Amino acid sequence: MSNVNENVLPLPSDQDSTGRTFGPEELENVAAALRSGTLTSTKGNFTKQFEQQFASQLGARFGHACSSGTAAIHTAIAAIDPQPGDEIITTPITDMGGLTPIIYQGAIPVFADVDPHTYNVTAKTIESRLSDRTKAIVVTHLFGNPCAMGEILELAKAHNLPVIEDCAQSFLTSYADRYVGTLGTIGCFSLQQGKHITTGEGGVVVTDDEQLARRMFLFINKAWGYGDANADHYFLAPNYRMSELQGAVALAQLPKLDGVVENRVRTAEALTSALRGVAGVETPRITDGAVHTFWKYCLRIDENVIEGGAVGLGGKLREKGIACAPRYIQKPAFRCQVFRDQVTFGDSRWPFTLARPEAVNYDESLFPGTFDALQHVLVLPWNEKYTQEHVDYIATSVREAAAELSRQTVEAR
Ligand SMILES: *Cc1c(COP(=O)(O)O)cnc(C)c1O
Repeated sequence: MSNVNENVLPLPSDQDSTGRTFGPEELENVAAALRSGTLTSTKGNFTKQFEQQFASQLGARFGHACSSGTAAIHTAIAAIDPQPGDEIITTPITDMGGLTPIIYQGAIPVFADVDPHTYNVTAKTIESRLSDRTKAIVVTHLFGNPCAMGEILELAKAHNLPVIEDCAQSFLTSYADRYVGTLGTIGCFSLQQGKHITTGEGGVVVTDDEQLARRMFLFINKAWGYGDANADHYFLAPNYRMSELQGAVALAQLPKLDGVVENRVRTAEALTSALRGVAGVETPRITDGAVHTFWKYCLRIDENVIEGGAVGLGGKLREKGIACAPRYIQKPAFRCQVFRDQVTFGDSRWPFTLARPEAVNYDESLFPGTFDALQHVLVLPWNEKYTQEHVDYIATSVREAAAELSRQTVEAR
């Protein structure tokens, strides 16, 4: 192993300063927030400025910051305000934080299958899960590549359903020349450590709808009617506020976002060129009319060509110090205990007790694209600080590993 390690090129990582964009701007803002003595965003100005600038950069009318991407999704679901047992269509390949808020609001996540090459839900897979209890659709633009929104928005309109966009992985991703997050009814973003820009933990919601915006503001703030003549706590709601320490960092991160995305796209395109013609390795399929902003760079591996498929190739890349993730989340979300055993409030199983049996049928036969996607996907870490040298290193590592493993296939026969 030791001679292997000598040949390892360290890659910038989004878990520490090697792959994050913090600098004097963030330090100065945090110091100013501290000096002001005001660290709550209800009184300070950093978070408010961030909210306005973020919304305006995307072209949305309203933006509200909150404490995480999970909180952002929860806020959006709460604004839609489902009745207990209503169904919300979503994807089984996502972060759990995109799903548990649906359950907390008493609704039933109903999973639509994904396209095995883009890993995203489609109008067709969503349509097959519609019922008279469907209340909303959540689309997740996975890895930075948008869902094919044209048909999805048409479908939603035909059924008068709001569309919540989970954009945690898709900052400045565009579709038909518009930023994701502004195509549907509400856009949700995460500022967690590993996202395009970060405050460690944090989130944002955006919308053009004034009433939804007000409801989201209230939900983040214990539903206390700030500014109202007879303010009260109007409905059940948590404190999901972002603090001024985070707001100060967020405001300094925002102007860096364009550069972050430019670098990620440029180096991703370079890797795609460098991997052209590698047998058994499929480079990302970008949605028509889209700009993919590469939160991660996914390869799809053909196990008929490469011995061991995504797991085999991923093992070789990990030996080269490339912290890749074969199979991404390992199993579809509905195979996790919270769904499989309906572990929710005490032993009540609520709200799953309200569900139609078909809505909670997680039989493998309903999800061919999902199982296919997870079996084949190899997720490469991607970062704004990658240089051509990093790209060359990754390309060479993939080519060499693919060549080694495809020779083994021949020998095994
Ligand atoms: C990261 C992420 C979330 C959750 O965000 P947190 O800030 O970690 O709560 C939700 N959905 C997707 C698609 C994510 O990638």
